[in-house]
Amino acid sequence: MSAIFVDEAIEQLRAGFRGELIDPGSPEYDDARKIYNGMIDRRPALIARCADAGDVIAAVNYARDNGVPLAVRGGGHHGAGLSVVDDGLVIDLSLMKGVRVDPEARTALVMGGSTWGEVDHATHAFGLATPSGIISTTGVGGLTLGGGVGHLTRGFGLALDNLLSADMVLADGSFVTVSEESHPDLFWAIRGGGGNFGVVTAFQFRLHPVHTVYAGPMFWDVAQATEIMRWYRDFLPAQGDELGGFFGFHIVPSTAPFPEEIWGKHVAIVVWTYTGPMEQAEAVFAPIRQQFGTPLLDWVGPIPQPALNSMFDGLYPPGDQWYWKADFFNELTDEAIARNVEFGSNIPTWQSLTHFYPIDGAASRVANDATAWKWRDAKWCQVIVGVSKDPADKELITNWARDYWEAVHPFSAGGAYVNMMMEEGQERVMASYGDNYDRLAEIKAKYDPGNLFHLNQNIRPRA
Ligand SMILES: Cc1cc2nc3c(=O)[nH]c(=O)nc-3n(C[C@H](O)[C@H](O)[C@H](O)COP(=O)(O)OP(=O)(O)OC[C@H]3O[C@@H](n4cnc5c(N)ncnc54)[C@H](O)[C@@H]3O)c2cc1C
Repeated sequence: MSAIFVDEAIEQLRAGFRGELIDPGSPEYDDARKIYNGMIDRRPALIARCADAGDVIAAVNYARDNGVPLAVRGGGHHGAGLSVVDDGLVIDLSLMKGVRVDPEARTALVMGGSTWGEVDHATHAFGLATPSGIISTTGVGGLTLGGGVGHLTRGFGLALDNLLSADMVLADGSFVTVSEESHPDLFWAIRGGGGNFGVVTAFQFRLHPVHTVYAGPMFWDVAQATEIMRWYRDFLPAQGDELGGFFGFHIVPSTAPFPEEIWGKHVAIVVWTYTGPMEQAEAVFAPIRQQFGTPLLDWVGPIPQPALNSMFDGLYPPGDQWYWKADFFNELTDEAIARNVEFGSNIPTWQSLTHFYPIDGAASRVANDATAWKWRDAKWCQVIVGVSKDPADKELITNWARDYWEAVHPFSAGGAYVNMMMEEGQERVMASYGDNYDRLAEIKAKYDPGNLFHLNQNIRPRA
């Protein structure tokens, strides 16, 4: 491809573009190329901040016709930095925000560059919510297309289980709305298949009557971790869908509002979410509160759903160093718990963590092949995350996460979660999809035979 042709093509793109085109000469370039994970430092040739689907179509056509490597950025939160590419084009959806709630139909139309905090705010006004994750700055795009496990998963399924339709720009530049009725193969594939199939410019979600929940974190001394984790393993799966809660290991941040006497302490935690009748909540939690004596910290109580979803945002601002690995577990044996307690009690930095997100309840009542996301039989999704503000800790947090993962992986169900892994090779991508991979590869060959959308956990088009 001659440089002159590419220059001419850029001028053509610029002439019809309504959003912002940012190149290395633009004053905002260095800010625009930053993503959430401070470990990632890439220099795209052009960042196309699209204003609408028309801009997205123009940018997709430009990348395809000129052989330019293409990345698509939703909220920019993927740990592996999949939303930014060296010497290529980034389609940045961050200007494409907006949420329209239909309170009668209980649906929300969400623009492709929105974050979950924006969705929560808009739906909460109507006493409604849809499942997402546990941090509100995360992008709707990547989280939904890859799965979406969080506070409301036991009650209402994964984020993608609540997707009703999506507007998409495909690799050939065409625009389609996909749903169970329209392009059902593509609708099946995008529910788990990540950004492999096109750029989603708008999502339509089902909403649920969730307003104030009874929720929040409970901390215990890590010395009690074995008995708490064993109890949690047996207790939660026996509860109804209205009770959720993820287990984790943390270090208490040395800052307000945490009580000073527990700053820096290693703790085992559960962050609970109860969506049942508020008047029954105290009774539900009374035995939990007595189970192991008074917890070190008990912030469980009535809280608006958006406040729960953004409760930890301040502890995890953009720009920190992140390295993560994940697995699914069908069961947590005593031996697996012992390995977790060993590594979980030795977290290297105060922001590092491991969490076990429950994926039973509503998420488990969907067939493994009903969407591309196949881990419906598993009970837990574990993520191990090394985080630090200090780039000098890169090796420390990476090695801890890798060693921890090596120690517990033999107990796992064998698969990976595309939203919580680095670039770990094709074998891990295939493990994420298991039996669903072949069908995904066929659909990829139909809609993106040239693999234009390859900066993701990549599904290769079937030859
Ligand atoms: C602080 C933090 C908290 C998290 N918490 C949770 C959690 O509770 N539960 C959970 O399941 N996950 C969680 N995650 C993981 C999260 O799901 C992934 O990082 C996800 O990729 C984020 O989506 P994004 O749009 O911000 O990412 P990006 O990095 O922008 O995109 C990730 C991938 O999705 C593609 N993509 C994004 N938007 C679109 C779109 N509109 N159309 C087509 N492709 C698109 C990108 O091309 C890229 O391949 C968390 C991540 C972080 C950093």
